[in-house]
Amino acid sequence: MKKVPFVTKEQLEEIVKQYPTPFHLYDEKGIRENARKVNAAFSWNKGFKEYFAVKATPNPYILKILKEEGCGTDCSSMTELMMSDACDFSGHDIMFSSNATPPEDFEMAARLGAIINLDDFTHIDFVEKVLGKLPETMCCRLNTGGNFELSNGIMDTPGEAKYGFTREQLTEGYKKMMDKGVKHFGLHAFLASNTKTNEYYPALARILFKTAVELKEETGASIEFINLSGGVGIPYHPDEQANDIMAIGEGVRQAFEEILVPAGLGDVAIFTEMGRFMLGPYGHLIARAIHEKHIYKEYIGLDACACNLMRPAMYGSYHHITVAGKEDAPCDHVYDVTGSLCENNDKFAVDRKLPKIDMGDLIIIHDTGAHGFAMGYNYNGKLRSAEILLKEDGGTQMIRRAETPADYFATFDFSHIMDKYL
Ligand SMILES: *Cc1c(COP(=O)(O)O)cnc(C)c1O
Repeated sequence: MKKVPFVTKEQLEEIVKQYPTPFHLYDEKGIRENARKVNAAFSWNKGFKEYFAVKATPNPYILKILKEEGCGTDCSSMTELMMSDACDFSGHDIMFSSNATPPEDFEMAARLGAIINLDDFTHIDFVEKVLGKLPETMCCRLNTGGNFELSNGIMDTPGEAKYGFTREQLTEGYKKMMDKGVKHFGLHAFLASNTKTNEYYPALARILFKTAVELKEETGASIEFINLSGGVGIPYHPDEQANDIMAIGEGVRQAFEEILVPAGLGDVAIFTEMGRFMLGPYGHLIARAIHEKHIYKEYIGLDACACNLMRPAMYGSYHHITVAGKEDAPCDHVYDVTGSLCENNDKFAVDRKLPKIDMGDLIIIHDTGAHGFAMGYNYNGKLRSAEILLKEDGGTQMIRRAETPADYFATFDFSHIMDKYL
């Protein structure tokens, strides 16, 4: 599928007059339309709710848009809980799916009335000790162990993953929590990441639905929601097929009708915790080509670096690149497109066929809306960029300013030694 940016060169040239590159740009229209599709895909389920994984794009303006579209938040840390609270998410509109969790994070989650999704059997006692008493609603995360396979092969290796309860621990955990007064239960699992098949959620749903039926028989627990978590992928590469969320919702519905309804569990609510699918395609990293270098290979140096987008350096991930205004030009040059870090893995693309790039060209790096800005860091003293929202009416709004040297120096105890720069 040809990848088309959500902005034109003309629009970008206007935007960069106001905001210097590099910056992350988000497409409000795309975010809203996609969120509506997700809700439509699961509208057959009365209690359906998408809890947006805050870690993917932790920005209050983005959270507010998603809230208006009916989403909750999925948090994994204290600050994500704080951000949800500040954006007026409360109670069961917040899921707390964390691991190796500090006690004060559990306290905060409980204070907000969030649903606590326990990562481990030993956390039952841990949370009880921290809170004095377990909340009446609890969720548990299942790790199925071994490999997780679909028809097209091994998707992931849960047996190597640090998350979740074993199947046996779930039964014991539910019983233990019932003894401690827990009344309402949920079940969660995250078995594969960035899946590019409509089969993933339905297959995961079948596992969780069957497990829920067994758990109900074994423990008599009241299972009220099943959380399919995240993992629905997006087509980063033009050769990849986009997931069809309507087909995914329908696949989950069929599993629901086959497994849960006959077992008397037809009232169970389906929850999701998608991050990438909700935001990934609706963000671009906008940078400018500032250097060209002709040595053993041809290099284009950008004013952005891996601190703005870590995925290519960290996972070797493909992110599509469009040269603004050269959308239809022949890709008759081969470049490594790099950032400025003193790390040779700071390359947005290696041996990429692109149109001829001229100095000053605006470079659009696709699919940076999730796990993009969020994974940013300050190595080499690089400062985090701004985040800009392209609004539905075509206007723009800065939803996070760029860092300045003062931000970078702010955590020194002796920041006065840097006074001349502040
Ligand atoms: C990261 C994460 C998600 C979101 O994953 P995506 O791949 O962005 O959909 C959801 N739930 C949990 C517990 C996570 O850790």
